[in-house]
Amino acid sequence: MQSSGFRDTGRYLRRPARPGVFTPANLAKLMQCLEPQANVALPMRIRGAGSAATDCNESPAGTVLHTTGLDRITNIDNYNHTVTAEAGVRLGTLVTALAEQGLELIGSHDQTERTLGGALSAPCMGPGIGKQAAYLSSQLISLKIVTVSGKVMNVSEEQQHLLNALRMSYGMLGVIFEATLRVRPISTFTASHRSVSTDKFADVIDHVSNASVGLKFYVLPHRDRVYLDLRRYETAPGNAYQTPWKIKDWGESTVLPQVFKSLNRVVPIPSVRYQLIDSISAATHGLVNTRLVKNGNNASGRRRRKTPGNLQYSTWCFPAADFSVVIKAYAEFCRETFQRTGYRCDMPAVGFRVGKDSSALLSPSFDEAVISLQTSSTQKKGWDDFVIDLSQFAENWGGTPLFSQSRAFRAEYATRAYGSRLEFFRKVRRQLDPEKRLLNPFLAQCFG
Ligand SMILES: Cc1cc2nc3c(=O)[nH]c(=O)nc-3n(C[C@H](O)[C@H](O)[C@H](O)COP(=O)(O)OP(=O)(O)OC[C@H]3O[C@@H](n4cnc5c(N)ncnc54)[C@H](O)[C@@H]3O)c2cc1C
Repeated sequence: MQSSGFRDTGRYLRRPARPGVFTPANLAKLMQCLEPQANVALPMRIRGAGSAATDCNESPAGTVLHTTGLDRITNIDNYNHTVTAEAGVRLGTLVTALAEQGLELIGSHDQTERTLGGALSAPCMGPGIGKQAAYLSSQLISLKIVTVSGKVMNVSEEQQHLLNALRMSYGMLGVIFEATLRVRPISTFTASHRSVSTDKFADVIDHVSNASVGLKFYVLPHRDRVYLDLRRYETAPGNAYQTPWKIKDWGESTVLPQVFKSLNRVVPIPSVRYQLIDSISAATHGLVNTRLVKNGNNASGRRRRKTPGNLQYSTWCFPAADFSVVIKAYAEFCRETFQRTGYRCDMPAVGFRVGKDSSALLSPSFDEAVISLQTSSTQKKGWDDFVIDLSQFAENWGGTPLFSQSRAFRAEYATRAYGSRLEFFRKVRRQLDPEKRLLNPFLAQCFG
């Protein structure tokens, strides 16, 4: 299927054009970059670790402002349980520094290579347990941002509407320089695992979704298997050992993508190759996750790991209330697409439940709990067409796109999906950046 958008579509490769690049090392340098008289090409886009799947962090013809030089942890307050850090600090570095003081981030956040600024400006989410907040930005207490005119603006919980607009604002309202977040003492949870068929998963998802557990799952649609990872807080959960979580993290983020990439090269017969790939995925979940990983906390296994460059991904959110139907349709979609086009993803799709959270204007779960479903693959050939079909599938099933993670969404659909909230955000954006200095063509399709 052809997509009508232009830079939003997966059909187009990243342009080879070279943007101007700035990596300010302190607040003064950051302010200088943004001053209207600064000699920089527009539009300006902010980039943290660059792990987003869309062009939200790119400006091929303008300037890209890298925040990774702003990497100081300013203060960890062990009495009030808060942390203040600059935007370029990596989540992994923050997690390690907090753990040394017996503290952890609230919510389960993988991909620890990403930056604090990137994680607050996009829906950095994970499987929250029960009603626990799922987004990192939900824990934001205050922000220091540099506006498009190069001025510093402090925003706290007293300016609630502005703070809500700044959470998940994709760098369209200014550059986050520093943030203060709520953290908490390390709390250990237990993780239990099940392997079920897609139909069985569809039968139990409503029940699990409404229980006070954290739900994460891995889908192998061509094997008719779903591997569940259910997390609970127990009164006496025992010790959380770091090593099993490190092995799991390493296996999922590094070993499997590398192995699958090699198999795609050396095993030419698709039926044999995919049989092997699915068997390795099933064995990994059976052995490592089910047997090894039992107790954990938000400080376990979160080593800083380079974002795998060979992995394509696209994430959509679906209403949790509809997911028993959506998961069956998704498995059918994967099988039908494979039959029709010969393309399928080699990595398992990863899903988790994200609770209702209206703390950010552009929250994908503003009105109701959602299930985030991330489809990923190491196979580049055919991926661009696949994500266009996936986007059509997601539209048909009421999916909500994420501006940083959903490939090939249609701007008209996204505008409709976010409705009046997007319209309100647009007004705030126009007030704070009337000359569109921070707006690239990709974001302008929805927010211009
Ligand atoms: C394999 C893989 C799996 C992933 N899984 C998940 C997942 O499970 N959950 C999830 O939520 N995300 C996931 N992501 C997506 C991605 O990590 C998030 O979108 C993340 O928040 C981006 O952080 P970053 O530092 O890489 O920011 P970038 O990608 O560099 O930027 C993201 C957005 O934030 C803006 N931004 C960055 N820094 C600032 C700043 N200082 N001030 C203002 N705006 C800023 C950028 O302009 C851009 O719009 C995954 C990515 C990969 C590659």
